[in-house]
Amino acid sequence: MALERRIALVTGASRGIGEAIALRLAQDGCDVAVNYIEEPQRDNAAEADAVADRVRSLGREAACVVADVTDREAVADMVRYVAARLGDVDVLVNNAGITRDRTMRKLAPEDWDQVIAVNLTGAFNCAQAVVEGMTDRGWGRIISVSSVVALTGNFGQTNYAASKAGIIGLTKSLAREVARKGVTVNAVAPGFIDTEMTRAIPEDVAAQIVQSIPMAAMGTPEDVANAVAFLASDRAGYITGHVLSVNGGVYM
Ligand code: NAP
Repeated sequence: MALERRIALVTGASRGIGEAIALRLAQDGCDVAVNYIEEPQRDNAAEADAVADRVRSLGREAACVVADVTDREAVADMVRYVAARLGDVDVLVNNAGITRDRTMRKLAPEDWDQVIAVNLTGAFNCAQAVVEGMTDRGWGRIISVSSVVALTGNFGQTNYAASKAGIIGLTKSLAREVARKGVTVNAVAPGFIDTEMTRAIPEDVAAQIVQSIPMAAMGTPEDVANAVAFLASDRAGYITGHVLSVNGGVYM
């Protein structure tokens, strides 16, 4: 297996793309920590448990770990907990992300702050918590989920596009810092992927989006997970600071 006995931590893994990444990494041999956030509106603990059960059914170890990625102390606790339960984190996937779409004119400052906090500062918090251990051990993978809109911009998404473009700057800079220490740092930039995030888009707008995709379909969470699993593998050992588009050709 490509990732036999590696320990992976996937943020926001109770559903959507994060869930698919957790399962794909398990198929490739990783033990997986399934991060989730406590939310009053939904039973994320049960969803994370279900993902962990599916990881175990693939023959790997799993642990669920609650932490809001914006909370630095919670992130440090999460990394310690994963180390105690499964082992030191070898593969970090910064997947947790949110949208708060509004045109600039209507965008509340809190919606700017919250999106930057989760999507960008959250990735920083998690990367900083694991990177030193990775460089000390001489092997590591940090893979962050950016977005096509980081490359193109998008109407009503100044906050989200800025956060996802920030991910690319973080990725390329950190890649340079740790390149000699056996750690690669990459990003994936999904296009429009069929998850709850995109199901929130009005149907007519979603139909127009699909029309604009050369492959004429939204991607699946598994499409993104396959790209992440490749970047995590030893086959991608000479690839760092790269942004891998998974977008059906919508931006080339
Ligand atoms: P999703 O279904 O909304 O899943 C996002 C996950 O992140 C959820 O599990 C969510 O938890 C979790 N999360 C949110 N805030 C968090 C926090 N502060 N700490 C820890 N976890 C948190 O979205 P998705 O479509 O799978 O997206 C996954 C990633 O791909 C995101 O970074 C997104 O920006 C990116 N992306 C998605 C698309 C797309 O078309 N779907 C395209 C490009 C990029 P809750 O369940 O509690 O909300």
